[in-house]
Amino acid sequence: MSHILIVEDESKISRFVSLELQHEGYDTTVIADGREALDAALEHEYDLIILDVMLPSLNGIEILRRLRQSKDTPVIILTARDQVVDKVTGLDIGADDYMTKPFAIEELLARIRVSLKKMKMVHTIGKLTVDIDSHIATYDGDPIELTKKEFELLVYLIENRNVVISREKALDVVWGYDFVGNTNVVDVYIRYLRSKIDDAFGIKLIETVRGFGYVIRHKKTGQARPL
Ligand code: CA
Repeated sequence: MSHILIVEDESKISRFVSLELQHEGYDTTVIADGREALDAALEHEYDLIILDVMLPSLNGIEILRRLRQSKDTPVIILTARDQVVDKVTGLDIGADDYMTKPFAIEELLARIRVSLKKMKMVHTIGKLTVDIDSHIATYDGDPIELTKKEFELLVYLIENRNVVISREKALDVVWGYDFVGNTNVVDVYIRYLRSKIDDAFGIKLIETVRGFGYVIRHKKTGQARPL
Protein backbone atom coordinates (compact mmCIF):
# COMPACT_ATOMS: atom_id res chain seq x y z
CA MET A 1 0.00 0.00 0.00
CA SER A 2 1.37 3.40 -0.95
CA HIS A 3 1.86 5.93 1.80
CA ILE A 4 1.22 9.54 0.85
CA LEU A 5 2.25 12.59 2.86
CA ILE A 6 -0.12 15.53 2.52
CA VAL A 7 1.50 18.82 3.47
CA GLU A 8 -1.25 21.40 3.67
CA ASP A 9 -2.19 23.98 6.29
CA GLU A 10 -5.77 24.48 5.17
CA SER A 11 -7.44 21.76 7.17
CA LYS A 12 -10.51 21.76 4.95
CA ILE A 13 -8.38 20.81 1.97
CA SER A 14 -6.11 18.35 3.76
CA ARG A 15 -9.03 16.55 5.38
CA PHE A 16 -10.84 16.25 2.08
CA VAL A 17 -7.77 15.05 0.15
CA SER A 18 -6.84 12.64 2.91
CA LEU A 19 -10.30 11.05 2.96
CA GLU A 20 -10.38 10.74 -0.81
CA LEU A 21 -6.94 9.12 -0.87
CA GLN A 22 -7.85 6.69 1.90
CA HIS A 23 -10.98 5.84 -0.04
CA GLU A 24 -8.70 4.95 -2.98
CA GLY A 25 -6.71 2.66 -0.73
CA TYR A 26 -3.73 4.83 0.13
CA ASP A 27 -2.27 5.38 3.58
CA THR A 28 -2.09 9.07 4.39
CA THR A 29 -0.32 11.36 6.82
CA VAL A 30 -1.29 15.03 7.08
CA ILE A 31 1.14 17.68 8.30
CA ALA A 32 0.26 21.38 8.37
CA ASP A 33 3.62 22.85 9.40
CA GLY A 34 6.45 23.29 6.91
CA ARG A 35 9.38 22.45 9.14
CA GLU A 36 7.62 19.44 10.60
CA ALA A 37 6.82 18.26 7.10
CA LEU A 38 10.45 18.47 5.99
CA ASP A 39 11.61 16.50 9.02
CA ALA A 40 8.99 13.83 8.37
CA ALA A 41 9.80 13.67 4.66
CA LEU A 42 13.49 13.19 5.40
CA GLU A 43 12.91 10.65 8.12
CA HIS A 44 10.24 8.45 6.52
CA GLU A 45 9.98 6.70 3.18
CA TYR A 46 6.80 8.12 1.72
CA ASP A 47 5.82 6.94 -1.73
CA LEU A 48 4.64 10.41 -2.69
CA ILE A 49 4.26 13.87 -1.19
CA ILE A 50 1.51 16.37 -1.97
CA LEU A 51 3.03 19.71 -1.13
CA ASP A 52 1.31 23.04 -0.60
CA VAL A 53 3.48 26.13 -1.16
CA MET A 54 2.27 28.67 1.37
CA LEU A 55 2.89 27.03 4.73
CA PRO A 56 3.76 28.13 8.24
CA SER A 57 7.47 28.11 9.24
CA LEU A 58 8.87 26.84 5.91
CA ASN A 59 7.34 27.16 2.46
CA GLY A 60 6.84 24.30 0.05
CA ILE A 61 9.53 25.40 -2.38
CA GLU A 62 12.12 25.46 0.39
CA ILE A 63 10.94 22.06 1.65
CA LEU A 64 11.36 20.63 -1.83
CA ARG A 65 14.77 22.22 -2.29
CA ARG A 66 16.07 20.69 0.92
CA LEU A 67 14.39 17.35 0.33
CA ARG A 68 16.01 17.02 -3.10
CA GLN A 69 19.47 17.29 -1.60
CA SER A 70 19.06 13.74 -0.40
CA LYS A 71 15.78 12.23 -1.59
CA ASP A 72 13.84 11.59 -4.77
CA THR A 73 10.42 11.03 -3.27
CA PRO A 74 7.90 12.09 -5.95
CA VAL A 75 6.35 15.45 -5.16
CA ILE A 76 3.19 17.02 -6.53
CA ILE A 77 3.07 20.70 -5.72
CA LEU A 78 -0.19 22.49 -4.99
CA THR A 79 -0.15 26.17 -5.84
CA ALA A 80 -2.74 28.88 -5.61
CA ARG A 81 -4.09 30.03 -8.95
CA ASP A 82 -1.88 33.11 -9.24
CA GLN A 83 1.41 31.60 -8.11
CA VAL A 84 2.87 30.90 -11.53
CA VAL A 85 6.33 31.63 -10.23
CA ASP A 86 6.03 28.83 -7.70
CA LYS A 87 5.02 26.42 -10.40
CA VAL A 88 8.11 27.15 -12.48
CA THR A 89 10.43 27.17 -9.49
CA GLY A 90 8.89 23.95 -8.23
CA LEU A 91 9.41 21.99 -11.43
CA ASP A 92 12.85 23.52 -11.66
CA ILE A 93 14.00 22.17 -8.35
CA GLY A 94 12.57 18.74 -8.81
CA ALA A 95 8.82 18.60 -8.37
CA ASP A 96 7.31 15.82 -10.46
CA ASP A 97 4.08 17.61 -11.14
CA TYR A 98 2.01 20.53 -9.94
CA MET A 99 -1.64 21.33 -9.58
CA THR A 100 -3.34 24.66 -9.28
CA LYS A 101 -5.90 25.23 -6.56
CA PRO A 102 -8.82 24.83 -6.75
CA PHE A 103 -8.45 21.43 -8.38
CA ALA A 104 -10.68 18.50 -9.22
CA ILE A 105 -9.91 15.58 -6.93
CA GLU A 106 -10.18 13.16 -9.88
CA GLU A 107 -7.35 14.99 -11.56
CA LEU A 108 -5.19 14.84 -8.48
CA LEU A 109 -5.88 11.11 -8.16
CA ALA A 110 -4.91 10.61 -11.79
CA ARG A 111 -1.64 12.51 -11.34
CA ILE A 112 -0.88 10.49 -8.23
CA ARG A 113 -1.41 7.25 -10.12
CA VAL A 114 0.91 8.43 -12.89
CA SER A 115 3.60 9.52 -10.43
CA LEU A 116 3.46 6.27 -8.48
CA LYS A 117 3.51 4.17 -11.61
CA LYS A 118 6.48 6.05 -12.96
CA MET A 119 8.34 5.27 -9.79
CA LYS A 120 7.61 1.59 -10.01
CA MET A 121 9.10 1.14 -13.42
CA VAL A 122 11.89 -1.30 -14.01
CA HIS A 123 13.74 -1.24 -17.31
CA THR A 124 15.75 -4.10 -18.70
CA ILE A 125 17.98 -4.06 -21.72
CA GLY A 126 20.04 -7.17 -22.25
CA LYS A 127 21.43 -8.05 -18.84
CA LEU A 128 21.22 -4.46 -17.69
CA THR A 129 18.38 -3.74 -15.29
CA VAL A 130 17.49 -0.27 -14.08
CA ASP A 131 15.06 -0.08 -11.23
CA ILE A 132 13.83 3.48 -11.13
CA ASP A 133 11.87 2.99 -7.93
CA SER A 134 14.81 1.86 -5.83
CA HIS A 135 17.42 3.72 -7.91
CA ILE A 136 19.43 0.60 -8.52
CA ALA A 137 21.17 -0.42 -11.72
CA THR A 138 22.56 -3.91 -12.09
CA TYR A 139 24.30 -5.89 -14.77
CA ASP A 140 23.69 -9.59 -14.63
CA GLY A 141 22.90 -9.08 -10.94
CA ASP A 142 26.05 -7.04 -10.18
CA PRO A 143 25.26 -3.59 -8.80
CA ILE A 144 26.52 -0.58 -10.75
CA GLU A 145 27.41 2.47 -8.68
CA LEU A 146 25.99 5.54 -10.42
CA THR A 147 25.65 9.15 -9.38
CA LYS A 148 22.22 10.79 -9.58
CA LYS A 149 22.91 12.42 -12.95
CA GLU A 150 24.50 9.30 -14.41
CA PHE A 151 21.46 7.36 -13.35
CA GLU A 152 19.06 9.90 -14.80
CA LEU A 153 20.92 9.96 -18.09
CA LEU A 154 20.90 6.18 -18.21
CA VAL A 155 17.16 6.11 -17.50
CA TYR A 156 16.56 8.64 -20.25
CA LEU A 157 18.57 6.59 -22.73
CA ILE A 158 16.78 3.40 -21.74
CA GLU A 159 13.35 4.97 -21.91
CA ASN A 160 14.26 5.90 -25.47
CA ARG A 161 16.08 2.72 -26.40
CA ASN A 162 16.89 2.37 -30.11
CA VAL A 163 16.22 6.08 -30.56
CA VAL A 164 19.14 8.42 -31.13
CA ILE A 165 19.15 11.12 -28.48
CA SER A 166 20.76 14.45 -29.30
CA ARG A 167 23.03 16.12 -26.77
CA GLU A 168 20.68 19.09 -26.64
CA LYS A 169 17.67 16.90 -25.85
CA ALA A 170 19.56 14.98 -23.18
CA LEU A 171 20.77 18.22 -21.65
CA ASP A 172 17.24 19.55 -21.62
CA VAL A 173 15.65 16.52 -20.06
CA VAL A 174 18.34 15.44 -17.61
CA TRP A 175 19.87 18.76 -16.60
CA GLY A 176 16.89 21.04 -17.18
CA TYR A 177 16.31 24.00 -19.43
CA ASP A 178 17.95 26.43 -17.03
CA PHE A 179 21.20 24.51 -16.81
CA VAL A 180 24.05 26.89 -17.35
CA GLY A 181 26.65 25.15 -19.43
CA ASN A 182 26.98 23.44 -22.77
CA THR A 183 26.33 20.01 -24.20
CA ASN A 184 29.86 18.85 -23.43
CA VAL A 185 28.54 17.80 -20.05
CA VAL A 186 26.47 15.15 -21.84
CA ASP A 187 29.61 13.75 -23.50
CA VAL A 188 31.36 13.67 -20.16
CA TYR A 189 28.53 11.75 -18.51
CA ILE A 190 28.25 9.36 -21.42
CA ARG A 191 31.93 8.63 -20.84
CA TYR A 192 31.25 7.95 -17.17
CA LEU A 193 28.40 5.59 -18.07
CA ARG A 194 30.53 3.77 -20.61
CA SER A 195 33.34 3.20 -18.18
CA LYS A 196 30.92 1.94 -15.52
CA ILE A 197 28.77 -0.21 -17.80
CA ASP A 198 30.27 -0.96 -21.21
CA ASP A 199 33.92 -1.09 -20.18
CA ALA A 200 33.26 -2.67 -16.81
CA PHE A 201 31.29 -5.57 -18.27
CA GLY A 202 32.94 -5.83 -21.68
CA ILE A 203 29.84 -4.92 -23.66
CA LYS A 204 28.77 -2.13 -25.96
CA LEU A 205 25.33 -0.85 -25.14
CA ILE A 206 25.88 2.88 -25.57
CA GLU A 207 26.64 3.88 -29.13
CA THR A 208 27.73 7.19 -30.53
CA VAL A 209 25.96 8.35 -33.67
CA ARG A 210 28.38 10.86 -35.05
CA GLY A 211 26.87 14.28 -35.60
CA PHE A 212 23.63 13.32 -33.84
CA GLY A 213 24.10 11.99 -30.36
CA TYR A 214 23.78 8.72 -28.51
CA VAL A 215 21.64 5.64 -28.49
CA ILE A 216 21.40 2.66 -26.21
CA ARG A 217 20.57 -0.62 -27.87
CA HIS A 218 21.07 -4.25 -27.27
CA LYS A 219 22.35 -6.34 -30.13
CA LYS A 220 20.99 -9.83 -29.90
CA THR A 221 23.74 -11.38 -32.02
CA GLY A 222 26.44 -11.79 -29.41
CA GLN A 223 28.13 -9.01 -27.54
CA ALA A 224 30.43 -6.53 -29.13
CA ARG A 225 33.97 -6.60 -27.86
CA PRO A 226 35.11 -3.63 -25.85
CA LEU A 227 37.34 -1.27 -27.81
CA1 CA B 1 -1.32 27.03 2.39
